[in-house]
Amino acid sequence: MRTRLSMLVLGALGAVPFTASAQQPTSQTTPAPSAAAGAPARQMKPEETEVWTPVPPVVTPGAYVNTAPPSDAIVLFDGKSLDEWVMMRDRSPAKWTLGDGVMTVNKPAGGIETKRQFTDYQMHIEWRVPRGTTQTGQSRGNSGIFLASTGSGDTGYELQILDSYENKTYVNGQAASIYKQSPPLVNAMRPQGEWNVYDIVWTAPRFNTDGSLKSPARITVMHNGVLVQNNYTLKGNTPYIGLPEYKPHGPASIKLQSHGDPSPPISFRNIWLRELNK
Ligand code: MG
Repeated sequence: MRTRLSMLVLGALGAVPFTASAQQPTSQTTPAPSAAAGAPARQMKPEETEVWTPVPPVVTPGAYVNTAPPSDAIVLFDGKSLDEWVMMRDRSPAKWTLGDGVMTVNKPAGGIETKRQFTDYQMHIEWRVPRGTTQTGQSRGNSGIFLASTGSGDTGYELQILDSYENKTYVNGQAASIYKQSPPLVNAMRPQGEWNVYDIVWTAPRFNTDGSLKSPARITVMHNGVLVQNNYTLKGNTPYIGLPEYKPHGPASIKLQSHGDPSPPISFRNIWLRELNK
């Protein structure tokens, strides 16, 4: 189905029509903050939601610590099986590459999501950018964790995964950012070939029966044991184009992004979570 092109206005920047791709459907109805009543509207540009300063200080994390799942955890990936995951596009069995106790993004196949749906949880996940990745900016080891999927494609709330070791990009799009919303407090990235660890506490948004927002999502994230998001309150979803917004949803799958950049695919291992407030 052809999506409606929402034309929004930012008067000071001039009217530049922009057709959003099908990858960013949530941005299509986002109102521009300065839209004048009765005036023609235009789509925002991706660059308008990039923030480049201040650059989070670099912190060298301590040594890697192997954190095995506790007794009450749901193990989402133990290195042996993709059984907890399905393809985002059609919920068929996950077709990512499995070997040596890790799973690796299969870029042509696309992103994957959990079979199960979750609300609030504590999550542990490890990821590695391969050595020899030479691309720059957002094209270097880009992936992401959508803490709750709100539809097809890259819809939901993304905790960014990127090779942010000596790699300049917009700070609200570097590793451990809440994409296009909240830069990490510091850059605690390990270099290519080493395992990065996120420990996440996710509180899902709640909605009233009429669909209005009851309470926003909140997130705390440790990157390699270093605090990078401190109970941050999300403004809404995390579109590539446009402003955050909330749309009502209930329990949701967690998605792992297959990004279209040309760099070699990244790998994941040791993924588990503990459900909270059940
Ligand atoms: Mg990403």
